[in-house]
Amino acid sequence: MRAVDSAAQMGAVVEAALAAGINHLETAPAYGPAEAHLGAALRQLAIPRERLLLTSKLLPGVDLATGQAQLQSSLQRLGLARLDNLAVHGLNRPEHLEWALQGDGAALLRWAQAEGLVGQVGFSSHGSTDLIERALASGRFGFCSLHLHLFDQERLPLARQALAAGIGVMAISPADKGGRLYDPPPELVEDCAPFTPLQLAYRFLLDAGVSTLTLGAARPEDLAWAVALAGADGPLSAVEKQALARLAEAGRRRLGAGACGQCRACLPCPSGVPIPALLRLRNLALGHGMTPFASERYNLIGRAGHWWEALDASACQQCGACLPRCPHGLPIPDLLAATHQLLAAPPRRRLWG
Ligand code: SF4
Ligand code: SF4
Repeated sequence: MRAVDSAAQMGAVVEAALAAGINHLETAPAYGPAEAHLGAALRQLAIPRERLLLTSKLLPGVDLATGQAQLQSSLQRLGLARLDNLAVHGLNRPEHLEWALQGDGAALLRWAQAEGLVGQVGFSSHGSTDLIERALASGRFGFCSLHLHLFDQERLPLARQALAAGIGVMAISPADKGGRLYDPPPELVEDCAPFTPLQLAYRFLLDAGVSTLTLGAARPEDLAWAVALAGADGPLSAVEKQALARLAEAGRRRLGAGACGQCRACLPCPSGVPIPALLRLRNLALGHGMTPFASERYNLIGRAGHWWEALDASACQQCGACLPRCPHGLPIPDLLAATHQLLAAPPRRRLWG
């Protein structure tokens, strides 16, 4: 997804990935020239096919003929006769699941497997817990790619559920969407010592049992952690557990009585405010010094279609319905207003008038 400037850049990243012991490459037609560059890199490096598992994805909602043409184009760009894995890219809404289970998507996935063009099918999702639960329970999918992060653990129970059912689980973007951990603030560096934040986040996910970690590499050196952590998929050590406990405690200390426990008991909000997601960003900003990341995510709200939340804290009508539901007695409307003030990008300065 990230090594898209040229086939040479992709080739350098793939070569470094293989040297690091990585055996799974994941891409998508939606990542611009990524498939074409990856195809060129695979041809140039002449990598034996059996050394790599290759995954690509298709956006949901297309009709059967369009989906068939899209899959064949992907294979052509990649120079492959067969993908190991084909994922529904962004199974984020109920209609996407319906498409995959009953609609043209179901026929497309059946056709792709019957023709031997793909091994197993799965999905990536940024959707609700309920939707992902239904997708996992459908029995249709052999793997899922989810947002699973040290700093956003909401979907970990879903991952455990999937793993227990023999469904592969890939953690999407632990470094970037997991908190821009490759560029951590000083508080975070200090709280995670003697580990780096990214190292601790990767180890946390490996300990949780995720079957695939993604390392979104733009340069060969971005794969340094793959080398350093190769084989480090055992349980957390006592020192790692202590570092995680210190990190959590430091967050609680800085947040004081305003810490949101992320229990979700305040939902549903009659105005549709995603209270826990917004207060999680506040937790990150005030508890861990991650304001630039939290602000970036906050200001994407309402601008990323079904890939992220639609409403920010300004949608709170101060009705108070959530207040009695919070086991921590948090002043939710006040915290939301403060979160908006803290994270909303300042309005652009008007030059005239
Ligand atoms: S006070 Fe705000 S967040 Fe709470 S239920 Fe009412 S509108 Fe939703
Ligand atoms: S009920 Fe309270 S602690 Fe739980 S998610 Fe909502 S605001 Fe946070």
